Amino acid sequence: MTQCDLESRHALVTGGTRGIGLAVARRLHASGAKVSLTGRDSANAEDVAATIADDVLGLGCDVRDGGQIATAFRTAAERHGPIEILVNNAGVARDNLMIRLSEEEWEEVMQANLRGAFHTIRLVLKGMMKAGGGRIINITSVVGMTGNKGQANYAASKAGLIGLSKSVAKEYASRNILVNCVAPGFIETDMTAALPGGAREALLGGIPLGRLGQPDDVASAVLFLASDFASYMTGQVLVVDGGMVM
Ligand code: NDP
Repeated sequence: MTQCDLESRHALVTGGTRGIGLAVARRLHASGAKVSLTGRDSANAEDVAATIADDVLGLGCDVRDGGQIATAFRTAAERHGPIEILVNNAGVARDNLMIRLSEEEWEEVMQANLRGAFHTIRLVLKGMMKAGGGRIINITSVVGMTGNKGQANYAASKAGLIGLSKSVAKEYASRNILVNCVAPGFIETDMTAALPGGAREALLGGIPLGRLGQPDDVASAVLFLASDFASYMTGQVLVVDGGMVM
């Protein structure tokens, strides 16, 4: 084995329309996977999929809605076969100090970041068991490990995702279903674009590698966990943060 060859396995990436998810979808496709990606708007998801390659499937699916997830996953399986690699990447941040955090902000983040993964994982397990194995990769955050001011809802959802991943990893290790997390630090995407200049400089000072992360940095870690190179890893959190948390 000299390279990560995904050998036409079907990989589904939630939130694959931009940022980290799009980089992951591109990288998995370039490594030989059949790829399905989702976003909230189906026309946009189709357009983005077409920018990667004609055989990439773009699907509309709001991960806050279990019914929409089930429909999208059925369509994906009809097109590319059972899902063998699931990347739970879709996520949102609605930051606020705890004292001002509304129930709506709490719920939205929990539903998108944590409950969405509950639905997607339940949907793929049977097929993976039948196939004799599979990979589930959940995009959490270093904030889920350290906490962060103004991000109680986001940090709780990402810490929850780690607990969910480790539990499912234990339940299905005997079925060769490997469940791992990738925890990015600060990656330059739409999600982090709003940061004011001063805060950006302060943040950079805390990153030993001296630069902000790029979506491709995270995609590399996801590809590794999806590949045969990671066949003896499960229940782990792979941190991709330029050394910010150590
Ligand atoms: P972006 O905001 O750039 O992209 C978010 C993606 O998620 C889009 O594709 C969006 O698709 C999709 N999405 C958002 N809400 C929903 C929803 N309800 N249903 C379905 N899809 C949805 O974010 P990033 O690329 O920065 O982040 C990707 C993941 O990485 C997230 O889980 C995030 O928490 C995590 N992360 C990011 C970090 C960073 O520094 N950027 C650091 C640590 C973790 P669309 O708009 O088309 O619906």
